Amino acid sequence: MLPLSLEFFPPKTAEGSDKLRAARAQLYALKPEFCSVTYGAGGSTHAGTFTAVGEILAEGVMAASHFSCIGATRARVREQLAQLKAMGVQRLVALRGDLPSGYGMGGEFQYASDLVEFIRAETGSAFRIEVACYPEVHPQAKSPQSDLQAFAAKVHAGADGAITQYFYNADSYFRFVDEARKLGLDVPVVPGIMPITNSSQLLRFSDSCGAEIPRWVRLRLQSFGDDSKAIRAFGQDVVGELCQRLVRGGAPALHFYTMNQAGPTLAIAQALA
Ligand code: FAD
Repeated sequence: MLPLSLEFFPPKTAEGSDKLRAARAQLYALKPEFCSVTYGAGGSTHAGTFTAVGEILAEGVMAASHFSCIGATRARVREQLAQLKAMGVQRLVALRGDLPSGYGMGGEFQYASDLVEFIRAETGSAFRIEVACYPEVHPQAKSPQSDLQAFAAKVHAGADGAITQYFYNADSYFRFVDEARKLGLDVPVVPGIMPITNSSQLLRFSDSCGAEIPRWVRLRLQSFGDDSKAIRAFGQDVVGELCQRLVRGGAPALHFYTMNQAGPTLAIAQALA
């Protein structure tokens, strides 16, 4: 079985935290290599992220904190890195982040590569650093080539590996990895897998984040209307086949965007075993 990692977001309520604990307990059956927790841009979820990361560590599982730099100062990042180190965190997912529209960029970091460089300069090899990459091209990139160069800059700044934005077209991943290898980037590029559980949410979100829902998937999802059982069954089929292709094609691991739910990820991962 390929190594798996699982991503969660920090819950906003006590009930959400309880549900997440229960979901994690079920998902640990997959023996994840690590579990990561997202970090709201501008530090908006800082406390919730660190609390969830601390809980995962206390459960005896390797935890990675996401860390986004948009709007951040060096002093603040330095302080938070020290906090994470003191907690025993050994892995980070280093990102730029997106501020909600209406907020100025501000801050002392422009790109995720600046953050990776800063973390390495400040903490040496204390953290394993993952970065994001985009097989279907980041929506703000000037061109596919410049986006690939942006990925290269993160690797040259010291990233150890990458996790992709989710996609449903395996060829985009294989091509991206080939192009990265041609540039001499030999870090593992782990596909990010988004289970399909809710069509309107997925269709809305994908438009803004650089992930394409193929027409045939979009139309079928729309045809199911509110039939969540049919959406889940179809989603499990489509994403299960995608994972099989990725595994057969040499993906080094799989990273699941769990959306804090155990069922969809368990169903896909257990079918692969
Ligand atoms: P960057 O690598 O800085 O790239 C951003 C844009 O700038 C790209 O278009 C790139 O092509 C361009 N660019 C980069 N460098 C240069 C340069 N030198 N010159 C010109 N253009 C350049 N967001 C959160 O807020 N919190 C999270 O926890 C979080 N987790 C994520 C996890 C994964 C695995 C992924 C794939 C995304 C995650 N995101 C998260 C979303 C991410 O923050 C956004 O996609 C954001 O828009 C870009 O972040 P980045 O780190 O890829 O940025």
